[in-house]
Amino acid sequence: MLRQPEEVFNQPPPLEDYNLFAHDTPLREGLRREGGAWAEEKVSEFGALMGRAETLRLGELANRHLPILRTHNRFGHRIDEVEFHPAWHELLSIGVAHEHHSLPWTNSRAGAHVVRAALNMLRHQVDEGASCPLTMTFAVVPSLRLQPALATEWLPRVLAREYDPRVLPAAEKRGVLFGMALTERQGGSDVQANTTRAVPTAKGGAGEEYELNGHKWFCSAPMCDAFLTLAQTDKGLSCFLLPRLLPDSTRNNGFQLQRLKDKLGNRSNASSEVEFRGALARMLGEEGRGVPTIIEMVRHTRLDCAFGSAATMRRAVAEALHHAAHRYAFGKRLLEQPLMRNVLADLCLESEAATALSLRLARGFDESPHDEGQRRFTRLATAVGKYWITKRAVAVVAETLEALGGNGYVEESPLPRLYRDAPLNSIWEGSGNVQCLDMLRAVKKDAGTLEMTLREIRAARGGNKYFDSFITKLERELTEPDGIETRARRIAELLALALQGALLVQHAPPEVADAFCTARLSGNAGLAFGTLPADTNFDRIIERSLPNM
Ligand SMILES: Cc1cc2nc3c(=O)[nH]c(=O)nc-3n(C[C@H](O)[C@H](O)[C@H](O)COP(=O)(O)OP(=O)(O)OC[C@H]3O[C@@H](n4cnc5c(N)ncnc54)[C@H](O)[C@@H]3O)c2cc1C
Repeated sequence: MLRQPEEVFNQPPPLEDYNLFAHDTPLREGLRREGGAWAEEKVSEFGALMGRAETLRLGELANRHLPILRTHNRFGHRIDEVEFHPAWHELLSIGVAHEHHSLPWTNSRAGAHVVRAALNMLRHQVDEGASCPLTMTFAVVPSLRLQPALATEWLPRVLAREYDPRVLPAAEKRGVLFGMALTERQGGSDVQANTTRAVPTAKGGAGEEYELNGHKWFCSAPMCDAFLTLAQTDKGLSCFLLPRLLPDSTRNNGFQLQRLKDKLGNRSNASSEVEFRGALARMLGEEGRGVPTIIEMVRHTRLDCAFGSAATMRRAVAEALHHAAHRYAFGKRLLEQPLMRNVLADLCLESEAATALSLRLARGFDESPHDEGQRRFTRLATAVGKYWITKRAVAVVAETLEALGGNGYVEESPLPRLYRDAPLNSIWEGSGNVQCLDMLRAVKKDAGTLEMTLREIRAARGGNKYFDSFITKLERELTEPDGIETRARRIAELLALALQGALLVQHAPPEVADAFCTARLSGNAGLAFGTLPADTNFDRIIERSLPNM
C-alpha cells in the first residue's frame, strides 16, 4: 500500500481523558489498605479530573510559560512580585479547593493523611511545581501550633479551601500560602552555619517582633503570604514567621527578591534568592530552638517528597506502558515484545513498591499522634523512604523516557519535564546523605525507631525465601558497628528495600511480590531495568499498572 508522506500511522494517541486513579491498581489498593477507603469515591472523582486533557494541559502551560520576576514597578518602587501564567493559579486553586494543603488538619478521620497523599499523588502527575507551596502550607501547621497566638492568627486562613493570589495583607485574604527560607549561600544542610541575624524591636522572645538582616539562597514560591525562616539571635538559631506584607498593607520592605533561579526543572514554580534588610518577623517557638521548631515542618515535607516521587514514577510508567501498548515494531506491539515486557514490568514493580511504601508512611503520620510504636516507625521510615524513593525516581524516569524512543526525548512529550523534575525531591528537604545521617541520628537517639521498623519488616517473614534471607543480611549489616556513617547509604537502602518487600509480600499478588523479591532482594539481579528472570509473570505485573485500555 502506498502511503502519503503526511499520513500519520503507528503513533500512539495522547494519554489523556482517563481516570488517573481508576487505572492505578497499586494506588487504589494502597488507599484502601492504609485506611483511606472512606474517601475512595472522592479520590476517584479527582483522578478523573486530573486525567482530563484540559487539566493535563494546565501542567504543560504552567511549565512552558515560566514565572517572571518584577522587582520594581515602572516608577522605580520595589514591588518584589512574580508573575505566573494563569495555568499556575488554576493548579493551585485545584489543590487548595481539594485540601491538598490541609486535609488531615481539617478532617480528624483516621486515614486522612493517606487520603491526602493519594490526592496529591494524582495532582502531582499533572504538575510537580505546584506541590511545593501546597506542601509547605500543609507542613507549616505543626510548627505554627507551637506558638498559640500566631496559630490563632494564621491557621484559619492556612486551612481555608480558597486560593487567593491577591497581593494583600494576610488578614484581608480568604486563604494564604506558606513558604520556608532556610538555605543560605554558605550552606543548606548545615543550617547552624546560617548568618542571618535577628534583633528584637522591643522586648523580644517567643511570639515577639524582630528585625531580620541577611539573605537566603533559596526561597521557593516567593509569592507565598508568609515564610518560616531561621536567623541567629544571641541565644542561637531561632525560627521566625515572616509575612510578605505587613498588616497596614505595606510591603514588608526588608524582604527583597534578588533574582529567580534558572532551574533544571520544577519550572512552573518560582525559586528565588532573597535578602532581608530589616524585614519584620515574629519569633516562632523558643529563642535558640529554631531547628526543633522548624523540624516539625521539615518532617512533613519529607513525606510529601516520598509520595511526590512515587507519583512522578507513576506518571512516567503510565506513559511508557501506554506508548508500548500502541506502538508496533517488528510486527508486534512493543508491549508484546518479550524484552520490552521485561523492562516495563520491572518499571511497574519499582513504581508499585514506591506507591506502597509512600502510603504506608502516610498511615504512620495518621497513627503517630496516638500510637508510640507508629511514631517511632514513622520517624525512621520517613528518612529511609524519602532517601530511597526520591533516588529511584531518577532512574525510573530515565528508563521510561527510553521506552518512548525518540518521542520521549522531545519536549512535546511529558517525559523531558518529568526527567528534569525527578532529581529535585532527592535534593531539597534534606539531600540523600542528610537523610541517611538523619536515619542514624534517629536510631542513636531512640533505638526503638529501629526496633519498630524491623518489627514491620519481620511481619512478612515466611512469605518469600529471598525476602527471608534478605532480612538476615539486613540484621547482620545493622549489628556491624564499624564505619556506620560511611555505610549509612547501604543501610538506608537495605531498610527501604526490606520495607518495600514486606509490603508487597503481605499485600500484593504473589506474582508481583515474588518478582520484586527476586529482582531487588535476591542479590542475583541485573543493574539496569529489564533484567527480570524469563519465568516472571509479566502479564500479572503489567496489568495492574496499564492505563486507559
Ligand atoms: C529547586 C530548589 C528549590 C529550593 N527551595 C528551597 C526553599 O524554598 N527553601 C529553602 O530553605 N531551601 C530550598 N532549597 C534548598 C535545598 O533545601 C538545599 O539545596 C539542600 O538542603 C542542600 O543544601 P545545599 O544546597 O546548601 O547543599 P550542601 O548542604 O552543601 O550539600 C551538598 C551535598 O553534600 C551532602 N552533605 C551535606 N552534609 C553532609 C555530611 N555531613 N556528610 C555527607 N554528605 C553531606 C548533601 O547530601 C549534598 O549532597 C531549594 C533547592 C532547590 C534545588
